[in-house]
Amino acid sequence: MALAPYAAHPHRTRGRRYPEPAPQLRSDYQRDRDRIVHSSAFRRLEYKTQVFVNHEGDLFRTRLTHTLEVAQIARTIARALRLNEDLCEAIALAHDLGHTPFGHAGQDALDECMRPFGGFEHNLQSLRVVDELEERYADFPGLNLTFETREGILKHCTRARAAGLGDIGERFLNGHQPGLEAQIANLADEIAYNNHDIDDGLRAGLLHIEQLRGVALFEDHFREVMARHPRLTGKRVRYEVIRRIINRLVTDLVAHSRERLDQAAPGDIDAVRQAGRPLIAFSAGVAAANTALKRFLFKNLYRHHRVHRMNVKTRRVVTDLFQKLFQDPRLLPPRARLPQGADEAARARTVADYVAGMTDRFALDEIERLSDPRRLP
Ligand code: MG
Repeated sequence: MALAPYAAHPHRTRGRRYPEPAPQLRSDYQRDRDRIVHSSAFRRLEYKTQVFVNHEGDLFRTRLTHTLEVAQIARTIARALRLNEDLCEAIALAHDLGHTPFGHAGQDALDECMRPFGGFEHNLQSLRVVDELEERYADFPGLNLTFETREGILKHCTRARAAGLGDIGERFLNGHQPGLEAQIANLADEIAYNNHDIDDGLRAGLLHIEQLRGVALFEDHFREVMARHPRLTGKRVRYEVIRRIINRLVTDLVAHSRERLDQAAPGDIDAVRQAGRPLIAFSAGVAAANTALKRFLFKNLYRHHRVHRMNVKTRRVVTDLFQKLFQDPRLLPPRARLPQGADEAARARTVADYVAGMTDRFALDEIERLSDPRRLP
């Protein structure tokens, strides 16, 4: 099926930071996706926390399985709207590469440590990973991805930070939107985590079906499932409800975005960027229902006392790691060493990059190696 005129067309890409010959068998966005899958940051996602810390159980989502769910949802939406599925997939696969160990608790701790030096933000760090930190190619640092993939990775950014980012930061200064594929990846992220967090929360026993029935989006589909399968019990109920919620969100998003696209009729991706509002969006009713679900999860899952107890511990691990390595950078392994003559801010950034790159289990092991003399150094 031909791409819509307002899709990201690979032959009209705004290009890479370091020009390269076009790939022979793939489009430029397929090449981006493949580079992301081959990166070491991507492999580390397997051992990084989404909500539940890696060792809490084998069935909970990790950053990697979360990322795959985002990519799969994003591709469905992109294809239905005749947008660029490869670009959407590339953005989705890269969107969490900059996450610290231990999820948001880890990111908040590192941000606090980095406050005197410009802070730490996982989204900006994802861009830093693909632009600077990956070391794979002879001719350039990072993965040298196309503008459109990088634009999609940088989901949000303060004006102060955007000013230092060149062309990729411009839209935060002039109020423009990213391309449609980026808008899709962003909402696919939400659809994925809202639903898999219900699943993981129920599995962990932190959430209960009766409690979730107070959330309209859940209750609607719960009633539908029970009407159709009155004797259904156990985890099949959970899965039947969740698959319906995902389907409802995705179909609503596709239908409403189609309406907006028909109305705005952007001639190309630049018209999309200048459209004044996102053209990928839920209808008002579903957007409100989705927000209610998010609020429920925030209150009942992300702030659950068991999650909080783990967060307190993991924040301390990240803070301790940062402080120890920042105070004595000679503790860093040679591969993470500082540039010659580095000032305090550069030292802090190097340590933050190193800590952010850790998996949960590496971080737990490393803090022991640094603290316990009975452990080998
Ligand atoms: Mg995500």
